[in-house]
Amino acid sequence: MSNVRVRFAPSPTGALHIGGLRTALYNYLFAKGQGGKFILRIEDTDQARLVDGAEDYIFQALEWLGIGPDESPKHGGPYGPYRQSERLDIYQKYALQLVSDNKAYYAFDTAEELQAMRDRLKAAKVANQQYNSITRVSMRNSLTLSKQEVVDLQAKGVPHVIRLKVPPKEDIRFEDRIRGWVKVHSSSMDDKVILKSGGFPTYHLANVVDDYLMDITHVIRGEEWLPSAPLHVLLYRFLNWEESMPEFAHLPLILKPDGNGKLSKRDADKQGFPIFPINWRDPEGDQSTGFKEQGYLPESITNFLALLGWNPGNDRELYSLDDLESAFSLERIVKSGAKFDISKAQWFNQHYLREKSLNELSNYLATDLKDLDLEADDDKIRKVTQFLRDRIVFPQDLLTAGKFLFLPPEHYEPQVVQKKWNDDVATFLQEYSESINSCDNWNAEIAHQLLADQLDKVSWGFGKILPGLRLALTGVGKGPDLMKIMEILGNVETIRRLNNAITNLSDTTIKKA
Ligand code: GLU
Repeated sequence: MSNVRVRFAPSPTGALHIGGLRTALYNYLFAKGQGGKFILRIEDTDQARLVDGAEDYIFQALEWLGIGPDESPKHGGPYGPYRQSERLDIYQKYALQLVSDNKAYYAFDTAEELQAMRDRLKAAKVANQQYNSITRVSMRNSLTLSKQEVVDLQAKGVPHVIRLKVPPKEDIRFEDRIRGWVKVHSSSMDDKVILKSGGFPTYHLANVVDDYLMDITHVIRGEEWLPSAPLHVLLYRFLNWEESMPEFAHLPLILKPDGNGKLSKRDADKQGFPIFPINWRDPEGDQSTGFKEQGYLPESITNFLALLGWNPGNDRELYSLDDLESAFSLERIVKSGAKFDISKAQWFNQHYLREKSLNELSNYLATDLKDLDLEADDDKIRKVTQFLRDRIVFPQDLLTAGKFLFLPPEHYEPQVVQKKWNDDVATFLQEYSESINSCDNWNAEIAHQLLADQLDKVSWGFGKILPGLRLALTGVGKGPDLMKIMEILGNVETIRRLNNAITNLSDTTIKKA
């Protein structure tokens, strides 16, 4: 067993989107590939932004994809609790330790005082209006107030925060597994709040403390957290945990399909593809359809997401979750943003659908038919499924593409009627239906043979009758193999549809004449 421990640490402030899901997947793959553990930690310290149902949604989404965690608030584990709101005393303890080690300090500034500071700096044309090693000396904090003043203010319950004492003029360096060496000058960093006035930690403190206490070995997360990493490095140093600092790997952004900027829900909505793994209803009541409900299979999404930012180093595209576990490596994660191409996801889905057994596929169709109260026997459902399985991208396409095999046409495409229907066609089909009636057996070959024989009699080619025949049976001018359609419909239904068309379309023919 390796000691690799990685974590996915979402904040339940909304629905987990496809980018978050990719982060979870990469963490999962890395852990499994290394024989390590995949931990789910809920980072719910920003209480004002919590959204009902968002935490549960994270579990459901991971479960759907088949990448459930080894340890989590739900699954438990030796490093719990795994929900940050249940660990407040831990963060407070370390925040106080930082203060007593002179690595952090109390700050009593009110919102107005902070604003006044920023205004002052702005007026003096200072580019960064930050609370930092320069400005902190003129603010109300435990570095400028006397010990007694600080004690008094605290005793009076004056609201205050704890800020990190970022050192001036220093390069903070760390090596990112994807980006190489990252260097940030401390003058560009501000004295971040690490403990808020209500006693809640901010993300930075809680994240670092938990990664340390949970023995996290690798932090694999989105690029948007790269700017926070220097601060985290500083926290490790200030807490004397440098030795156990995890390795960092910041994943590339997921870009809009045209590569212009970060993919957003707006882009997805505009272009009509999902952004959330499963259905989501936000607190305002807005409903979003998930990848799952749109008919994407979990194996398509894992394959698709795995290649959205990771390059296996060869031409191979198809990877099961198991394959991915052994093939995945941090070294092959790309640095540049990955363009989101929904047609690729559809391509995977088509592939994995084709791989399903006839039984499994037929079940999709059977369920959809039942939902529509359409009666059909199992044998027919299997035949339709077999017939259409290579033409579908989503399971529900079976119903869309095959509905006409269960329901006779309600109307006939006018342009096809106009061009392809006439009295001769009607007479021919009348005779064809009679020859079917007097025939004992029925399948596509027989349907074809009877048609060929009759065409011979009147010296017509197939082209002269096929469009009219298709129109009569399906109501439209185009579709899959007509002989096979007749076989699936059965002789009785074929005859019924032919006769219906002849009756219904004769009016049109008369009008045309
Ligand atoms: N809570 C952060 C988020 O919502 C976690 C970032 C990290 O992985 O450090 O993404």
